[in-house]
Amino acid sequence: VSQPEPDAVAVILVGDELLTGHTSDTNGPWLGRRLTDEGLRVVTIMTAPDDVHGVVRAIEHGLETARAVVVTGGLGPTPDDVTRAALAGLPGEWTRGDLANDVGLEPGVRLESGRGTVFAVPGVPGEMRAMVAGHVVAAIIASAGQLSPRSTRSLTVVGLGEPGVVELLAPVEEYLAGRGRLAYLPCPAEVEVRIAVTGADADDVATTAAVRARRLLGDLVAAEDKGIEETVVEMLRTQNATVATAESLTGGLVAAALVSVPGASEVMRSGVVAYASELKVALVGVAAEVLRRDGAIARTTAAAMAEGVRVRCGAGFGVATTGVAGPDPQEGHPPGTMHIAVASEGQTRVGSFEPSGKLRDRQTVRRQAVVRALDLLRRTVMDIGPGPGESAPARTR
Ligand code: ATP
Repeated sequence: VSQPEPDAVAVILVGDELLTGHTSDTNGPWLGRRLTDEGLRVVTIMTAPDDVHGVVRAIEHGLETARAVVVTGGLGPTPDDVTRAALAGLPGEWTRGDLANDVGLEPGVRLESGRGTVFAVPGVPGEMRAMVAGHVVAAIIASAGQLSPRSTRSLTVVGLGEPGVVELLAPVEEYLAGRGRLAYLPCPAEVEVRIAVTGADADDVATTAAVRARRLLGDLVAAEDKGIEETVVEMLRTQNATVATAESLTGGLVAAALVSVPGASEVMRSGVVAYASELKVALVGVAAEVLRRDGAIARTTAAAMAEGVRVRCGAGFGVATTGVAGPDPQEGHPPGTMHIAVASEGQTRVGSFEPSGKLRDRQTVRRQAVVRALDLLRRTVMDIGPGPGESAPARTR
C-alpha cells in the first residue's frame, strides 16, 4: 500500500443539515482555499451524517489518502453531536490533545498515531476558521516537513468566454510547462484565471506568468488577486471619486457588492432600487416620455437612470441596471436581456446584452448584471475604451 504524500490533507464535514440541503457548506471551500494557499494539497472533501459509524468510516477513508484529516462539526455536547464518540471509536492507539477555542466554548481535539493526525474542529464557521488558522495549519505544516514553495495569482477576466481566454493564454501555458499550471474557473459573467506554481523560484515564475497573462489579455483583466468590487472601490478612492446606483434588474446587488468592501463609505453616496416604472421617474428622474416611448428595458432608460441618480445624489459616477431576470419575458424581451449604464460628467456609457445561448436562471442573470455593471464602472473610472456590449458613448449635458 502506498503511503499518502506528506502534504495531503483530507477534510470531513459532519452534519445531517449539509446532506439534506438545509445548510450550504462554506467550511469545505474555505478550507480548500486556505490549506492550498499554505502549500498543502486537499485531496478529498467528504460529508458525513450525524452518525458515529458514518464519521468513523469517513475518517478511516481520510487516513488512507492523507496524513492529516480535518473534521468540522458535530463537536458539541448534545446527543446529535457524534464527532467525539467517533474519535473514541477509531481503531488503534491514539494520543489525544486539546485544541484551544479562542472564540467559542467547545475545545477542539487532536489525535495522533503512526497513521496520521486527526483534527476535530467546530462546525460554526467563525470558530472553525479561528481554530484552523490559529492552531491546525501550523501543526499540519510542522508534521508535513519541508513543503515545496508555492505561489498563486489570480486574474479576473470580463468580456471574453473561457475558450477565448484559454486560446489567448496559450503562450503562458507554454511558459509554465513543468513548473506550474493555469486553471480556468468560468463564472456567470467572468472567467477567473488561477496561476499556481511550485518549486524554489515559485514566486518569480508566478509573477512573470501573471505579467505575461496581463499583457495578452489587456484591458479584459478586471481585477488581479482580489475581487472586482474591491478593485473598483480602490480605483474610486484613489481618484477621490464617488458613486451612486439606480438599480432595477439587480434590486440593490450592485450597491451591496460595493458596500461589501471595507472603506466603501468613502466612495458610496447612495443606492436606489427603482423597480416600478413610475418610481424610475419619481426617484431617479427618468423622463416619463422616455419610458412611454422605449419602455423600461431600454438603453435610453438605463442611461437616464444613471444620469438621474448621479445628479440627484451628487455623485461623480452614476450606475444603472435594467433588464429581464426571467423566467418570463418582459415587454417582449427574453430573460437575460440587459442594459447597463454608467454616467460620468458629460458622458454616459451603456452596455447592452442579449441573452446568450444557454438558458439562465434569475440569480445567474442578476449576478451577470452586477459583474457587467462593476466592469463598466471600472472602464469609465479608468477611461478605458469600449467594453463588452458597448457602442459609442452618448454625450450628455
Ligand atoms: P455546537 O457546539 O454549536 O453544537 P458544533 O461544532 O457541534 O457546534 P455543528 O453543531 O455541527 O457544530 O454546527 C454548528 C453550526 O455551524 C450549525 O448552525 C451548522 O449549520 C453550522 N455548520 C456546520 N458545518 C458547517 C459547514 N460545513 N458549512 C457551513 N456551516 C456549517
